[in-house]
Amino acid sequence: MKYIMGVDCGGTKTEAIAYDKKGHVLKQTVTGFGNLVIAYEQALGHIKEAVTTLFQELGQENCQHIVLGIAGIDAGGLKERVQADLQGWPCPVTLMNDGQLAQYAILKGANGAIIIAGTGSVMIGRVENQWYRVGGWGHLFGDDGSAYGIARAAIQQCLAEYDQGQEPSALSQAVLNFFKVGDVLALTRQVYAMNKGQIAEVAVVVADLAATNQDAQRLLVEAGQALAQQVSQLASKMSDNQGPFNIGLNGSVIEKNPLVYQAFNDYLAEHFNQDYQLIKKTASCASGAYYYQKRMEAK
Ligand code: BGC
Repeated sequence: MKYIMGVDCGGTKTEAIAYDKKGHVLKQTVTGFGNLVIAYEQALGHIKEAVTTLFQELGQENCQHIVLGIAGIDAGGLKERVQADLQGWPCPVTLMNDGQLAQYAILKGANGAIIIAGTGSVMIGRVENQWYRVGGWGHLFGDDGSAYGIARAAIQQCLAEYDQGQEPSALSQAVLNFFKVGDVLALTRQVYAMNKGQIAEVAVVVADLAATNQDAQRLLVEAGQALAQQVSQLASKMSDNQGPFNIGLNGSVIEKNPLVYQAFNDYLAEHFNQDYQLIKKTASCASGAYYYQKRMEAK
């Protein structure tokens, strides 16, 4: 059977799904992280492994189009590099940012914005053929409101307490315990040897601690507010958007953490100056391939 393939390549996993021409899922597979900035060769390996698995199961000759949404593709001219490295597949290949694929998937081809707050973060909007963006600058310059952003803030608090000559707070102690180190010097030695995805895992510790700890709660509230601020900036750039402003939600931080979600909502309720609707994800972002394909065919 003929199929198209969507591949969502994020900071934690790469998910490839094959769809028939009505958008029904035929097969899916998951491999490791696909964010090219974390470690280019490893990410490329995970992406190729996912695509090859579906080729083997469904026949590569039946694949009509592969649409990949890849985190980190815009940084450092990686699009050209990955384009060259992914040559040789027997069908057209479309490359986009993971936020663009999520935009097609969550809004099912409609205009509007989406946020990704997973390992990293980005805000992406589309009105017909025009794309808009806020953030998505990667962990060196951005990722506010993401798991990595929360982890960075927790580690920074730990370092600030040391600088101020304080004993580690409960939050800092939890960070030190997570990395199995006794002090901040060992902590920095350790984190500089880790990749972004590994560091971002500290956000889970912060989320657990937030049940009882105000420092952890504050970091999550700040993350929710940072996401809402960024999506508000995005909306003001998308002034030609018609009707209620669609905001699709994607990523473990905004989908699963109630404090982040609440702070995000509260900020929008107070500051967002137009009608909006929050749209939850109902299918994998890989399904963006199906809506993208439909849009191309309608042209
Ligand atoms: C990456 C972006 C990506 C975002 C969401 C950021 O860290 O730089 O390319 O879109 O995370 O996955």
